[in-house]
Amino acid sequence: MSRRPSEADWRRLGQAVTGRVRRPGDAGFRDAGTPFNKRFAGITPAGVVSVADTLDVQRVVEWARDTGIDVVARGGGHSFAGHSVGPGLVLDLGALNTVTADGSTGLVTAAGGARMADVYAAVQPHEMAFALGNSDTVGIGGLTLGGGCGAVSRVFGLTADALVATTIVTADGQVRHCDAGTDTDLFWACRGGGGGNFGVNVSFTFQARPVTDCATYVLLWDGADAAKVFSVLQDTVRQAPDEFAARIGVSRAGGETTVSAVGQHLGSAAQLREILDPVLSVAAPVHTAIADRTFWQAKDDLRHETAEGAFAVRTGILTGPLPDEAIATMLSFVERRPDSGNPDGGGAALFSWGGAINRVPATDTAFVHRDAMFLLSMDTSWAEDDEPAVVDANLGWLAGLSDAMSPYVSGGAFQNFSDPDLADWRSAYYGVNYPRLQRIKEQVDPDGFFTFAQSIGS
Ligand SMILES: Cc1cc2nc3c(=O)[nH]c(=O)nc-3n(C[C@H](O)[C@H](O)[C@H](O)COP(=O)(O)OP(=O)(O)OC[C@H]3O[C@@H](n4cnc5c(N)ncnc54)[C@H](O)[C@@H]3O)c2cc1C
Repeated sequence: MSRRPSEADWRRLGQAVTGRVRRPGDAGFRDAGTPFNKRFAGITPAGVVSVADTLDVQRVVEWARDTGIDVVARGGGHSFAGHSVGPGLVLDLGALNTVTADGSTGLVTAAGGARMADVYAAVQPHEMAFALGNSDTVGIGGLTLGGGCGAVSRVFGLTADALVATTIVTADGQVRHCDAGTDTDLFWACRGGGGGNFGVNVSFTFQARPVTDCATYVLLWDGADAAKVFSVLQDTVRQAPDEFAARIGVSRAGGETTVSAVGQHLGSAAQLREILDPVLSVAAPVHTAIADRTFWQAKDDLRHETAEGAFAVRTGILTGPLPDEAIATMLSFVERRPDSGNPDGGGAALFSWGGAINRVPATDTAFVHRDAMFLLSMDTSWAEDDEPAVVDANLGWLAGLSDAMSPYVSGGAFQNFSDPDLADWRSAYYGVNYPRLQRIKEQVDPDGFFTFAQSIGS
């Protein structure tokens, strides 16, 4: 139970840190404390401390222990389930955004609050990369700790698979360095065990690898072609080399249904056209863009632009293609999506997983989903000023879609697309790895200092 620090306590925090403490009403408080997902914009933290360095993180942890206030870390602030905002103290890592890259070793070290744009800017001059998110503002902290997948993951693995070391401030205020030979349990937990659970990671070191030129594609079809496109493209993914990545989507917004396939091939546009030939032959797209790109142009092509506002997501793990009847169920649900004031709309998408992701055994890291062919992501969105009835209708529709798809998915869910309405999140996010995560949590945070709605051990 969070306690309320006194005014004297807050002054003490302000004097203890080099960074900045903001309380409601202070300039910049809204920017520092409002989550990306406006579903949780109504939660006002008692304070936000924007730390300047690792020592600040330690001081904040000590102060929060003394005062009894709940604390959550905030990296990029993109948690789908609002895990980086709460009524207590938000520990904002935004100023810890330095990223260094060594072209001779391929090692990249990112401070705990760095965002995708910071990481890309550091690695691009060295023509190397590892799997990164497709939005400039997603934080490296949340991305890595929850696994992290990108368009290159079938070849490069997860973001967490590229992690070789991390430095973390634990609940006792200590700074711990973890890697494959030091503090190995904690290192294991930091590769897929979920953000915010074990401490505040102030730095992450990754092994990057050289990148090559590649090709990208964006294909759009009329809603009437949806069933054919899903059926054929699932097969394409099953047969294609790992270099091929796809996001096959159907979405509904403003009464219109759009079917899309977007992705990358770590090869040429000519090879990519061959891979896509079956779907291009079966249904003519209304928009076709297939082009040779540099790795960096491809990253820009695949950047996820969102209208922001409020959103919710549910996920399922597919170990094989969806049968025709499941595709039909999914499409008929999407046709019935209730409208909202958010132009992003809602729908369902299959992300190609597998490849290098599945070549790591399920218990080697905390990320357990090592047998997937696709991630099924179902989402909806609404505007902050939509009536409560619109929000309820969208959440009800999403729950209905997820229930309807449940016979076709494994019991798993992607911890990085966190879902506050998921009842069995412990087994869904972590599967057989949950008991080990719980034991590590008991060792490094026996009092449950880092606790939030879906924290390990809660
Ligand atoms: C537009 C958009 C695009 C996305 N694209 C992708 C994608 O391509 N691939 C993918 O895998 N996921 C993607 N995601 C999901 C994203 O990876 C997760 O939402 C992730 O948790 C966000 O991390 P964050 O640091 O931005 O968020 P935050 O909300 O700041 O953090 C998420 C969780 O991690 C904790 N945390 C953050 N930083 C640290 C740290 N340094 N130390 C300890 N705990 C920390 C927070 O306390 C919180 O519990 C996307 C999300 C959005 C909204």
